Amino acid sequence: MVYLDFLQLLETSLPAGRLALVRTAGQIALEEGVSLYLVGGAVRDLLLGRPTEDLDLVVEGDAESLASIIAKRLSGQVVSRSQFSTAKIKVDGVSLDLITARSEHYSRPGALPQIAHGNMEDDLARRDFSINSMAFPLHTGAKGQLLDPFDGQADLQRGLIRVLHDKIFVDDATRIMRAVRYEQRLGFRLEDDTETLLRRDLPMLDTISGDRLRRELQLWLKEERCVEIFVRGDQLGVTGAIHPSLAGSGEVIKKATNPVGAGFKPALWEGTRSLDEYVYLGLLAYAMDTLEGERLIGRLRMPPRWAAVVRDTIALKHKLPRLSDASLSPSQLYEALAPSSTAAVQACALAAPSGEARRNLTLFLEKLRHIKPVLGGKDLIELGVPQGPDIGEMLARLRSARLDGAVTSRSEEVALMKSWLAAQ
Ligand code: ATP
Repeated sequence: MVYLDFLQLLETSLPAGRLALVRTAGQIALEEGVSLYLVGGAVRDLLLGRPTEDLDLVVEGDAESLASIIAKRLSGQVVSRSQFSTAKIKVDGVSLDLITARSEHYSRPGALPQIAHGNMEDDLARRDFSINSMAFPLHTGAKGQLLDPFDGQADLQRGLIRVLHDKIFVDDATRIMRAVRYEQRLGFRLEDDTETLLRRDLPMLDTISGDRLRRELQLWLKEERCVEIFVRGDQLGVTGAIHPSLAGSGEVIKKATNPVGAGFKPALWEGTRSLDEYVYLGLLAYAMDTLEGERLIGRLRMPPRWAAVVRDTIALKHKLPRLSDASLSPSQLYEALAPSSTAAVQACALAAPSGEARRNLTLFLEKLRHIKPVLGGKDLIELGVPQGPDIGEMLARLRSARLDGAVTSRSEEVALMKSWLAAQ
């Protein structure tokens, strides 16, 4: 593809502020005699006509000094720099990432790469798939042409995810998870040799640190086609290779998000294409027992919020038979569910086998958890409750009375409080 066609694509795709910034960056690079390219995901998405989030630019030369010149010229700021020779420019709320072109070398599977400065060809060769390894020159004016050394354009047309070489997954097995994510997001398929390599190299996922695995898993959980990604992950053996507790998890979330059979169906799923990432995490945990959950928490070095969703979901699943009772009072339901993280309750509301449990959990989510007494701590002190833990206890009792309909107004709450104090 030539410069003018690509420029037209940029002009029709990018909002005015971002377009102006990219064009000015290209103009300044031309004046400074520095080569500057738009690379990676942005080129892929522009060619596909999909919205593009991050604009990554690669500089053959010093990214930080070019970033400083651009920021100065546009009265913007260079907001971050790191030891990897990268810089972020911000102008009027619009940002651009500039990276120094580099080559990478992996000393052993799963290790972070050793980095050396390189040219644009080296920089494209260090990437993962052909569709992510294209660059467009911004410094050349009308003569520019798309750099596409791995035939990414042809793969975009054929709908293929294809690796750049056969050690791609050995060097960095997180690319296994990236391959599945792009394949399902774009509705593509893995090219045959790529699929063979991916299956061969599944054990390499063991070389990846828990933090990196968790970050990739989080990217799966955030995708709109999260369910399809996990289903495909099962089919390729990826879910089980990430961790045995995740084997078969695609089927679990597929079933929970397409409830079949009689009984109450929570409205959680309907009307939205995808769920919150923590609800998906809860659905994954729903299929696990306590030990499997703990092993996964350890392997992925889960932070407290993640670990709470996993533990709460598994604990709640065991309480579901009790929560299927239609005669439970609202306050009993509240007490059973309030200590759990909301995502865990949402996950169980989707996955619970009994319609009555799904109805009770949904009642809690939609109504009960928002109910509070009108009186607050200060009111209770004025009514004569001593400061300290009694306040919290009394507020909880008042909430229960509200939940069960024993009081419905402020004056009834005051009367109830007075009767309790008198009885004490
Ligand atoms: P997304 O839309 O998911 O953000 P992206 O292509 O912009 O897609 P990033 O993870 O932001 O993805 O990475 C930017 C580019 O860096 C990719 O297009 C790819 O060229 C390269 N890249 C990122 N991660 C890797 C990796 N693990 N191995 C090789 N190249 C990578």
